Amino acid sequence: MLSNRQLFAQYLAPVSPTPVGLEIERAEGIYLFSPDGKKYIDLISGISVSNLGHGHPAIKKAIAEQTERNLHLMVYGEFVQSPQTALAKELIDVLPDQLHSIYFVSSGAEATEGALKLAKRFTGKHEIVSFHNAYHGSTHGALSVTGNEALKNAFRPLLPGVAFLELNNLIELRRINDKTACVIIEPIQGEAGVIEADAKFLKALRKRCDETGALLIFDEIQTGMGRTGKLFAYQHTEVKPDILLLGKAFGGGLPLAAFISSKDIMSTLSHSPALGHITTFGGHPLSCAAALAALKYIKEEQVLSPIEEKEKLFRKHLIHAAIKGIRGKGLFLALQFENAEINFAVIKKCLELGLLTDWFLFNDSAMRIAPPLIITKEQIMESCEIIIKAINKLKL
Ligand code: PLP
Repeated sequence: MLSNRQLFAQYLAPVSPTPVGLEIERAEGIYLFSPDGKKYIDLISGISVSNLGHGHPAIKKAIAEQTERNLHLMVYGEFVQSPQTALAKELIDVLPDQLHSIYFVSSGAEATEGALKLAKRFTGKHEIVSFHNAYHGSTHGALSVTGNEALKNAFRPLLPGVAFLELNNLIELRRINDKTACVIIEPIQGEAGVIEADAKFLKALRKRCDETGALLIFDEIQTGMGRTGKLFAYQHTEVKPDILLLGKAFGGGLPLAAFISSKDIMSTLSHSPALGHITTFGGHPLSCAAALAALKYIKEEQVLSPIEEKEKLFRKHLIHAAIKGIRGKGLFLALQFENAEINFAVIKKCLELGLLTDWFLFNDSAMRIAPPLIITKEQIMESCEIIIKAINKLKL
C-alpha cells in the first residue's frame, strides 16, 4: 500500500518542483502536528487564512450547527439563506456606506474576477490599471492584473488594456485616464514581500480615480480580517475604496471570498445582462456560518487590540546581523535577508527546529511572518528564539 506521501507524489497535480511536502495529521491553535507527533509552530496561517488559529471552538461550533441544518441549497443569489444574511449584516456594520452590497464568492481569484467585471460593466470602459509585483489570483482575469511577467508569459493572450504602474510613484498616476475602468491595488502588497502603499500615495490615487471616473478596488484578500491590526488595512488611512475584495481568513478556515461595493454599482450585475456574475458555491452556508463566528469573535473578544504590541515584540526579538530589515504592519511581516539562498536555508532550518514559515511569491529573499492573530506573547518569544537559533546554526 502506498503511504500518504507516496499518494501525494503520485496522484496530486504538482504546482512546484519542490513542495514543502510536510504531512500534517492535525492542527490546534498555532500548532501543526505531523503523524510522528512532531509539533510545528505555524507562522504563516496557511498563507494568511487561519487568523484565529486552527480548530477554533467558536468556528467549529458554528460549522457543526450549520451542518445539522443544511449544506448547499441553491446557487448564489436566489434563495434567502440566513447564514448569508447574518454574515452580510455583521460585515455591513463595520463597513462604510459605499460598501453596503456584498457579492459572496468562493475564492480570492473569483472575487478579483467579479470586481473587474463589475468595474467594466458599471463604467462601460475596459482599461485597467494595476501595479508591478501585485498578486490578485491565478485565473485568467486575475492573472492579467498580476504584476509579474514570469508568472504570466506562458498563458498569453491575457486581458488586453492592462497598464502596470510603480507603487508609490505619484507621477505615474497620470496614466489613469478617462478610459480607465478601474484601478486595482493591495493597500499592502503581500506577495511582493509586504510592501506598503504609503498614505499620501493612496490619497492621491483616490483623487485621481475620482477625477477620471475610475473605480478604485482594494484587494484586502490577504490584509483583511485583522491581519494588519485593523479589521481592514485601508482603515490605517483615510482612503476608502469603491470595491473591496475579501478572501482567505474571511471564511474562518473555510472557502469564502467576496467583492463588496455600493448598491448602485453592484445592481448593474443584475441586468443587461441579468446574471452578470454567476457562482454555484459562492456564500456556501457552512463557509458563511464559519465566517460569521470568526468575525463576531474578532469583534467581541478584542482580538485586534494587542496586535500592535505583538508586532513590536517580533521586531524587538528579531535582531541579528543576518536580518537586513523587517517590513510590514501588525502580524503581516517580512523578514528581509541578503539573498534567497540565506532565506531558503533559514526557512529549512526553522522547519527542522519545529517552526513553519515561507518566502513570498515575488520575493524569495524575505521570510513570511503571518501567524494566527491569537499567538501569545510567550509563543512569539519562542518563535523568535527558533528563528535566531536557525540563523546561528547556519553560522551566517
Ligand atoms: N489577492 C491577494 C492579495 C492574494 O494574496 C491572493 C492569494 O494569495 C489572491 C488574491 C488570490 O486568492 P485565492 O488563492 O483564494 O484565489
